[in-house]
Amino acid sequence: MKKLYGIIGDPVSQSLSPQMHNQEFEKLGIAAYYHPFRIAKKDLPSGIEGMKVIGVQGFNVTVPHKVAVIPLLDEIDPLAQKIGAVNTVVRQDDKFVGHNTDGLGFVRALQMDWKEDLADEPALIIGAGGAAQAIYFSLLSAGVKHIDICNRTIEKAKKIIKSSPYEASSRALTLEAAEKEMGNYSLVIQTTSIGMASTEGKSPVSLDKLTAGAFVSDIIYNPGRTAFLKQAARKGAKTQNGVGMLVHQGVLAFEKWTGITPDAGRMAEVVKAHMGG
Ligand code: NAP
Repeated sequence: MKKLYGIIGDPVSQSLSPQMHNQEFEKLGIAAYYHPFRIAKKDLPSGIEGMKVIGVQGFNVTVPHKVAVIPLLDEIDPLAQKIGAVNTVVRQDDKFVGHNTDGLGFVRALQMDWKEDLADEPALIIGAGGAAQAIYFSLLSAGVKHIDICNRTIEKAKKIIKSSPYEASSRALTLEAAEKEMGNYSLVIQTTSIGMASTEGKSPVSLDKLTAGAFVSDIIYNPGRTAFLKQAARKGAKTQNGVGMLVHQGVLAFEKWTGITPDAGRMAEVVKAHMGG
């Protein structure tokens, strides 16, 4: 019988994870199937219990359950505990163990697209939501020494910096202050939702002062080229969209579930095909 994996969220039909994982199960000859489970907020406790009863071997967690799922799991790995959010659950014997592969997926994609050694690169994160926090902690755990965070609501940036369990030299900035200081960063990461759906064509900050040669990442993957990335390219920056982060959080989850490294390039092709090329 096939092993069962999946993703829980609400909504969940937009997720491209079923396509990424089912393709790899098939190509690698693994007898497993990955299914999207729509679970409403109010049903989360019974939903997790149900996943255990029917023998699910592992699952991803997406909006709105990444934080709420924590008390419902048996164990939480230390990085996920620090981040305060879980996006991957692994069944170990009869326990559900929570991990966070979002931030590490981002770091892995960054290292593949830019450079392995990030330690001395001064970085700016734009945004202070859940994704920003996972990326901030994961970059610090990868040894990056200087990371500032700017956000529309500066209090949220301060809170993330204050809650960091890692040694860091970090400042919380307003969006306006970050625009003025943009020339000081060799790595700029856009993590707000500005640029997708109703805000397509908009950018959270101006990149006028960006240094040519900086590396600029936008974790939005649909559209594949946001107004922010177009601005960065015009300033001579090397750019990256959110497909790499999406794929590599999935690669890390797949490894945890099966002990096998899937083909990241093939997974990226599936994502791009479903986004319309
Ligand atoms: P979140 O927790 O809701 O955070 C949203 C962030 O966007 C906050 O910093 C918020 O600022 C900012 N923002 C929203 N509207 C704004 C506006 N009009 N002007 C300025 N700032 C605004 O969301 P999240 O989970 O971190 O996700 C953020 C984005 O990352 C989404 O687009 C999501 O699709 C993407 N994402 C991509 C991946 C991937 O694998 N590539 C993974 C996770 C998330 P305030 O604090 O001031 O409200």
